[in-house]
Amino acid sequence: MLSTMQDVPLTVTRILRHGMTIHAKSRIITWTGEGEPQRRSFAAAGGRAVQLAAALRADLGVRDDERVATLMWNNAEHVEAYLAVPAMGAILHTLNLRLPPEQLIYIANHAEDRVIVVNGSLLPLLAPLLPHLPTVEHVVVSGPGDLSLLAGADAQVHDYEELIARHSPDFDAFDWPDLDERSAAAMCYTSGTTGEPKGVVFSHRSIFLHSMQATTAAAFGLTERDLSLVVVPQFHVNAWGVPHATFMVGASMLMPDRFLQPAPLADMIEQERPTHAAAVPTIWQGLLTEVTERPRDLSSMYRVTIGGAACPPSLMEAYDKLGVRLLHAWGMTETSPLGTTSYPPPGLTPEAEWPYRVTQGRFPIGVEARLAGPDGALLPWDGESAGELEVRGPWVARAYYGGSAGAELTPDDKFSPDGWLRTGDVGVISPDGYLTLTDRAKDVIKSGGEWISSVGLENALMGHPAVAEAAVVAVPDDRWGERPLATVVLKEGAGAGYEELRDFLAGQVAKWQVPERWALVESVPKTSVGKFDKKVIRRQYANGELD
Ligand code: ADP
Repeated sequence: MLSTMQDVPLTVTRILRHGMTIHAKSRIITWTGEGEPQRRSFAAAGGRAVQLAAALRADLGVRDDERVATLMWNNAEHVEAYLAVPAMGAILHTLNLRLPPEQLIYIANHAEDRVIVVNGSLLPLLAPLLPHLPTVEHVVVSGPGDLSLLAGADAQVHDYEELIARHSPDFDAFDWPDLDERSAAAMCYTSGTTGEPKGVVFSHRSIFLHSMQATTAAAFGLTERDLSLVVVPQFHVNAWGVPHATFMVGASMLMPDRFLQPAPLADMIEQERPTHAAAVPTIWQGLLTEVTERPRDLSSMYRVTIGGAACPPSLMEAYDKLGVRLLHAWGMTETSPLGTTSYPPPGLTPEAEWPYRVTQGRFPIGVEARLAGPDGALLPWDGESAGELEVRGPWVARAYYGGSAGAELTPDDKFSPDGWLRTGDVGVISPDGYLTLTDRAKDVIKSGGEWISSVGLENALMGHPAVAEAAVVAVPDDRWGERPLATVVLKEGAGAGYEELRDFLAGQVAKWQVPERWALVESVPKTSVGKFDKKVIRRQYANGELD
């Protein structure tokens, strides 16, 4: 028997209408680098999203599930595109502006983007790509930029403001399509830390449910009283759901645009006083160095979501001292991305909370988890049995986009026969459900039949007072198969020799895990979303030889 309840589709259109009406006064503040930031209410941004939807349909002829790409920083116009494109029935494709040109070309062609909305400041990046993007018919330029760079392009060029100005901002004036909540709303290619980028296609329903979860006290805990600093790029898994989540509950957003360097970030935090923020660990590491040299008040941020890569416990400690609480979260493009958050159980002292805070955390209602051993058998949640994490749920991918002509891709190493996502992450789960990741399957160091966690060594090393960053990779070894190689960045003005670092590690991990191979480097190579790029490090030291 079916229920007697209404079957109202969960769509981005509802998020748009709700935010612009119920939370009309909430704001998107975009940093401009000079003078006053741009401040736009949800009512105004929502109205502009309606105008953009109308322009896409009427002027650019966008139909059905055609792809509208964005090549943009985090700003109000990007939020407008986030809402307008799926609501008018098309698919938002966020392009990662930090990818090398050949990958961007591959991804835009694979998605068959028909329109690209681009920030004027990014035209130097887009212009040389355009001749290689035959499906792109329209380029919509937002903000100042050198339009002469697009002279000779086959695509028609439009000014964002002129384009939307011809249309009404009245939500009810537009003929919104009746959307199936399971239809595609947005797509995002994995950042390719391991292997080729693969397209994940989010549905209206998955975005709606994920964003609702993101607002809860078990995740970002956002309300109308919050201002969220969205450092995680909008091209990195929908900025972890923050723009949709804020529109749902009326939390305001602080958008850094292209001012992502530690100094302007510290300035905007001190000036605008965000209560929440979200970014990968390397951002928080950079900001810490900045405020150590030139103190700023960061204490308004009582809740910061840190994820995308393991958060070194030393970083958490350092921020505790600044009155900023880092909340560890795990996720991936395929999980929309929120998978876990590490709130400790209630009633504990700060000391007793600590072992929980440094885990990746617990799974929300929407994400079921299990651990699979090397032979595929499921492992117990005993805090000791390490296996590959597998997950499923309404905001977890079941396949990759196969291209318009091709079938969906379900590689064996990514999806189990019974439909769970194989995350490629290795870890343990405690009896009370806390996940601790020890490594990515591809990064684990297999030394003489034993596994060494590269993350474990990195976290220990980053606890040394002279160490700013440390990345550990496996290098081939004749005797042991693989051994760890530690690359270390020292803090400015600090000194520490290999021997000291070796002794320091020996006090914290089993002796046989301590690396024999070391390299002091100026910086650890990073991926396009700011994680340690172990592929590059491995390549640099593939033959085990050091400088
Ligand atoms: P890519 O796999 O291309 O890097 P994602 O941005 O989707 O793209 O990265 C997801 C991966 O990032 C996860 O599978 C995991 O290995 C890593 N990750 C994310 N959050 C954490 C975390 N809190 N701790 C450890 N690793 C994390």
